[in-house]
Amino acid sequence: MASHKTHYEDCDVLVVGGGMAGTGATFEARHWGRDLKIICVEKANIDRSGAVAQGLYAINCYMGMQWGENQPEDHVRYARNDLMGMVREDLGYDMARHVDSSVHMFDEWGLPMMKNEKTGHYLREGKWQIMIHGESYKPIVAEAAKKSADKIYNRIMITHLLMDEEKENRIGGAVGFNMRTGDFHVFRAKTVIVAAGGASHIFKPRAVGEGMGRTWYAPWSNGSAYALPIAVGAKMTQMENRIVLCRFKDGYGPVGAYFLHLKTYTQNANGENYEKKWYDQTKELVGEYIDHHPTPTCLRNHAFIQETIAGGGPIHMVTTEAFQDPHLETVGWENFLGMTVGQAVVWASQNIDPKYTNPELTTSEPYVMGSHATCSGAWVSGPEDLSPPEYFWGYNRMLTVDGLFGAGDTVGGSAHKFSSGSFTEGRLAAKAAVKYIEDQKAEGIKVTDKQCEDFKEAIFKPLETYTVAQNEITGGTVSPSYISPIQGLQRLQRIMDEYVGGIATNYMTNGNMLKRGLELLAWLEEDLEKVGAEDLHQLMRAWELKHRALTSQCVTEHTMFREETRWPGYYYRGDHMKLDDENWHCLTVSRRDPKTGKFSLEKVPVYHIVDENEKKKAS
Ligand SMILES: Cc1cc2nc3c(=O)[nH]c(=O)nc-3n(C[C@H](O)[C@H](O)[C@H](O)COP(=O)(O)OP(=O)(O)OC[C@H]3O[C@@H](n4cnc5c(N)ncnc54)[C@H](O)[C@@H]3O)c2cc1C
Repeated sequence: MASHKTHYEDCDVLVVGGGMAGTGATFEARHWGRDLKIICVEKANIDRSGAVAQGLYAINCYMGMQWGENQPEDHVRYARNDLMGMVREDLGYDMARHVDSSVHMFDEWGLPMMKNEKTGHYLREGKWQIMIHGESYKPIVAEAAKKSADKIYNRIMITHLLMDEEKENRIGGAVGFNMRTGDFHVFRAKTVIVAAGGASHIFKPRAVGEGMGRTWYAPWSNGSAYALPIAVGAKMTQMENRIVLCRFKDGYGPVGAYFLHLKTYTQNANGENYEKKWYDQTKELVGEYIDHHPTPTCLRNHAFIQETIAGGGPIHMVTTEAFQDPHLETVGWENFLGMTVGQAVVWASQNIDPKYTNPELTTSEPYVMGSHATCSGAWVSGPEDLSPPEYFWGYNRMLTVDGLFGAGDTVGGSAHKFSSGSFTEGRLAAKAAVKYIEDQKAEGIKVTDKQCEDFKEAIFKPLETYTVAQNEITGGTVSPSYISPIQGLQRLQRIMDEYVGGIATNYMTNGNMLKRGLELLAWLEEDLEKVGAEDLHQLMRAWELKHRALTSQCVTEHTMFREETRWPGYYYRGDHMKLDDENWHCLTVSRRDPKTGKFSLEKVPVYHIVDENEKKKAS
């Protein structure tokens, strides 16, 4: 290992991932911890990293409390409804009551906000969304983080968390490697905030071959947010709740501004409103949930998927009416220029002008994340003033490992946070992390050199595997002694796609398929010991793959555990096709034993705190 130099850094707060949640955490950690040493480590470059790298055209979570537009309770009800009842209302409420203050800071920091000319309020796209000229959203929040941190490390991928060797189940820091220099980095830390985004590319994407790499969620989101905590035995929740998105075909262009602001609508190939056609069938599956308003995202997907299976496709977005208005036409195009330029390019290449041709929609491959219309992620403590005892163990957003915190896509149970809510959750986690240090909970942490050296050996092993095994290459990239990261990735994606409810089966799975999927994932895990990397970039790919594979195991275990179809349109358990409130109106929580690698799962009650409190007030 002599060829890889080791760097040591000791700090108080270590933020892993400098996306929306990570920048929020870094900024807020400095506010409460003036004298603390705060480090942020980012796999890419913080100025243009994470899901918001390319910019956004709307901030999807803003209450507007100053104008009486919405209250946090309204947002909790909204998220609960959209997730078919399954959210952590304490976390959702806590985020919602603070999110406006984050947005006001973005405004102060120079993010161009669109204003309603009549009222002077932020221009609403929908009930929760406000419109921005957000091409520079990410550099703006990155600047706040850069000014707050003692140091930002770019181009370092964190591969493992370090554990304290003095006190059981307490965090000790993290390790990783620099993808440009090949150096090994040890960060010994009193607290770690994991903010490493969601997971794309664990299910086989629709775009393969010439379109490989094109996904809806950021292709570089590789599930580190889940794999890092899972590997050290932190509990996870709702990992079965993967998300499927309805988006413009091939470019995955966003549809929110089109539906909400441009008031466009969808129809099948015969020009019919197909959603109505599936009402009775959906009611059979989910009962009164189909009558909720707004219709939960998964149920709208369900109608789309059923209509396509029944031969009613392609499904189109009707843009030709709205685009006759020059203002709306401009908004429609700008929407892509601010966040998904690729969609405009796809349309140009396919000769689609939405003023004259209604563009096609599709449902995406599934993604795992905790900040959108879905809530997979870590099982964390809530705030002390809101959370019932099962949801509270001392520090807000702390995982079930002491000193390990999470925010954004990392945190499960709290959907519909989006960019602003993820930044806000980062702030909440950082405030609690500083308190944890001030409360002397991080005293006497011991991380031996041996622990670090063992990880160093493991991290660079794929380079060695390749160096030796390349001598046995029989042709191209084929060798009996190693697999490349892309070979491993494609194998993972097929397992998840075909057995765990991807596009190959129209999102259908069942207990037998999941059991087989788990067997295949276990063999993949064995073979990943033999992953080879020819350079540092491939070394990153190798570790991204290992994180994706561990995340996938957890997703599959959860999908097997929940014996019902809670979210038709996200996935179907063919052996339990109906929503089953009697047995499954609960959250699922898992833990992987780091010593044996075995998962155990349990049901945890879901508390409807908002309406309970109201009921109490009324009585
Ligand atoms: C296509 C798309 C459209 C969206 N549209 C909107 C919208 O219109 N409005 C809105 O408000 N929200 C939108 N969102 C949601 C929003 O982007 C996310 O909610 C938010 O970015 C989540 O924040 P996060 O910090 O958890 O993840 P991210 O912002 O993705 O940040 C994760 C960071 O961790 C880094 N990282 C990952 N692994 C490692 C590792 N191992 N070591 C070190 N660093 C690592 C990544 O490079 C990245 O910088 C959209 C998301 C997508 C993908």
